[in-house]
Amino acid sequence: MRLLYVFTWLLIVAWSASAQAKTVEIKDLRLWTAPDHSRLVLDLSGAVNYHVFRLHQPERVVLDVEHARLRARIGKLKLPDPVIRRIRSGVPAAGQLRLVIDVKEQVRPRTFLLKPMHGKPYRLVLDLLRPEVERQAAIAASNKKRSRDIVVAVDAGHGGEDPGAIGPHGLKEKTVTLAVAKKLARLIDRQPGMHAVLIRKGDYFVPLKKRVRLARAAHADMMISIHADSVRARHVRGCSVYTLSERGATVDKAARALAAKENAADAVAGVALEDEVDDPVVSRILGDMFRRDALNSSQILAEKMLDRLRRVGPVKYAHPKRARFVVLGALEIPSVLVELDYISNPVRERKLRSPRHQAKLASALFDASRAFFAQMGRLGAQRAEADVRGGVL
Ligand SMILES: [Zn+2]
Repeated sequence: MRLLYVFTWLLIVAWSASAQAKTVEIKDLRLWTAPDHSRLVLDLSGAVNYHVFRLHQPERVVLDVEHARLRARIGKLKLPDPVIRRIRSGVPAAGQLRLVIDVKEQVRPRTFLLKPMHGKPYRLVLDLLRPEVERQAAIAASNKKRSRDIVVAVDAGHGGEDPGAIGPHGLKEKTVTLAVAKKLARLIDRQPGMHAVLIRKGDYFVPLKKRVRLARAAHADMMISIHADSVRARHVRGCSVYTLSERGATVDKAARALAAKENAADAVAGVALEDEVDDPVVSRILGDMFRRDALNSSQILAEKMLDRLRRVGPVKYAHPKRARFVVLGALEIPSVLVELDYISNPVRERKLRSPRHQAKLASALFDASRAFFAQMGRLGAQRAEADVRGGVL
């Protein structure tokens, strides 16, 4: 009798739960294409239960979302992309939504739900990871004999789901950072003895710790992370340059606040657990001396950056500042984070949008990098080697 009572009670609970489960609306869909994965993001009016599975011949990924209705148009997505051939939707059972994603190769699906944050609603993220592309890239990186060229990792801040700061006329930080990064990379590649690696090549998000891993995998001798700042007071303008502060060091309030804002990128864009891992081997082998050396070098580099940037626009802080930026986590690599200007200032926003001004900023960063390596005695040596190879000497 008691058992029957419990059972009835359970039934009632189950019934009321399903009755209360409101239909969640999928209000928007976005697709971001990265070299090693494609990411589909669904904007939701609430939290959902979902599950994902694969079907073969032909390859497809199926995403079932409970108590959900599609309000967004799949047709607005730019398809096909390198992974996705097309997406279809259906209603396999009352109140259930099914998305069938036809893919061009075997992919590993990964899903996670993001809570509302920074003005964004609940979001369901579906990553279609390309293990074969990742494997090939790893093989290529390990096979590539370490070139004698100086390698500069150029990191365009933000991307994909994370626009970064947005100017009063709608200019997005992620757009400016990528434009300047590409221009900078071109200048570096043109310099004999130097070679650039773009950490982000398009409009997609790269988790902060993965940026650090990519710089290491490329055997970078330097890392430049490019950003644009924003603040409520619209008249504020000027660039600033940051390096990593040592653990426990006193950091000024503004720098700490900025680091917190930049470090929030992962939360805004959505990072799966597996992307949050540190590189345990590298952090263990790094001795204090090594670390301090790179921190000092970063400081020298930061000074040079400010010195060159001063010639192309206003400066916010006359000296480099320090704070704990996750993206500057490669402690063995001289690394700086540059805030090009304030995108929140309408006048500076217009400047940041201009390709000519972007080119000036890129060339200031390039000059500083070159001067840094020359001072470190690296670029001169490279030059001599190149000359020997070229038969000049
Ligand atoms: Zn930023």
